[in-house]
Order: sequence, then structure tokens, then C-alpha cells
Amino acid sequence: MNDEMNQLIDLQEIDTELAGFDREISEHEQEINNRQQSISEKENAIAACRDRVTELEQKRRTIEIENEDAVARIKDRQNKMMQVQTSREHQALLKEIEDNKRLIKESEEQLLDTMEAIEQANKEATELENLLAGEQNLLKKETATVTKKIKKINTRRKTVAKKRDKLASALNVPLLKRYDILLTKRAGLAVVRTVGGVCQGCFMSMPPQQFNEVRKGDTLQTCPTCQRLLYYQEEECEEA
Ligand SMILES: [Zn+2]
Repeated sequence: MNDEMNQLIDLQEIDTELAGFDREISEHEQEINNRQQSISEKENAIAACRDRVTELEQKRRTIEIENEDAVARIKDRQNKMMQVQTSREHQALLKEIEDNKRLIKESEEQLLDTMEAIEQANKEATELENLLAGEQNLLKKETATVTKKIKKINTRRKTVAKKRDKLASALNVPLLKRYDILLTKRAGLAVVRTVGGVCQGCFMSMPPQQFNEVRKGDTLQTCPTCQRLLYYQEEECEEA
């Protein structure tokens, strides 16, 4: 195999390693993001509970005022009873008093329901707040752990990145450029093995004549389907 191809294979190995570090880092970051997401969902749910309590308290005050008004109307009608002359007027006042009494009874039931709902919403908010406190505590710990892990990964990454720089600078510029473009376009895989005439990047076959060229390894060959740079490795081909 020619030297350039060997350099490219080494470069690909290093870039795969670097991509692995990056993936590890982003997985760790994702853990933290998920936790933060869950925390902000809880915060929203708590705020919604508190809003609901405010609304219910307002409803409760409205009912109480209605209740007081009904009590006042009853008192007023009872006073008027003393002054009315006809039985018809008397009956009308009695009916009004009964209506208001019924209103009071209904509103008292509503009041009970509302107070129960307030209690329920407050309870829910408190439960969520307890969960939230637990998660915030976890987040703090996880953030510290993940920061440490990422720092370690970055230290290892730096060493490998230095190796990459050294290798890349030894490669001829147009070839490196071609490799880098392929690496970006082909999801981090620019140099691939061939097994039995099949590209291990896209798993498409190449013409037998080209496979022979790849096996010889004198020239740089690219996959006709995915344009990745191809190489051949005897022992691994036999395994396959
Ligand atoms: Zn291919």
C-alpha cells in the first residue's frame, strides 16, 4: 500500500477517536440538559398550580360576597315584612327570602368545593416543590461530576488532537483538503476498507477491475457510490 494511503488510514483512525471524544462530551452535556429540562418543566407546573390557587381564591371571594349579599337581602325582606299590608306582598317577600336562602345553600356548597380545590392545588404544588428541590440537588451533583468527566476527556482529546495536527501537516495539502471535505460530507468516515469488492462505508459493490486496483494499493481509489477513499487489508478480508 502506498504511504499516502497509510497516512490517510492513520488520520481516519485519529479522527474517529476524536469524534468519539466529542460524542462522549455531548452525551454528558445532554444528561445535564435533560435534567435542566425536567427542572424547568416542574417549575412551570408549580407556577400553573399557584396560578390556579390565585384564580380559586378569587372565585372564593366572589362566592363569599354573593353570600353576604344574599344574607343582606334576607334581612332587608324580613324588615319589609313588618310593613306590608296585603297577603300578596307578604307572599312575594317570603318567596324572595326562600330564593335567597337557597342561593346561600348553593353557594356554601360551591364554597366547600372551591376550598377543596384550593387545598388540592396547594398540595400538588408542595409535592412538586419537594421533587424540584430533589432534582435541583441532583443537578448540582451531576453538573460537578460531568464537568470533571468532560475535563478529563478534553485532556485526552488534546493529546490526540496534537497527533492529528502532526499527521495532517505531513500530508500533501490537496489530499488533506479532499480528505477533510469527505470527512465532513460523509459523517466522519472518509477512508474505508473494502471487503470482497464491497465498500464498507456505503456497502455498495465496485467493479471487479477497481477492486483489483484497490488490492494492489498503488493508486488512490475512491468508491464510485460514496466517493470515500478505499483501502484493502488482507487479514481482515480473509476473516470476512
Ligand atoms: Zn462507498
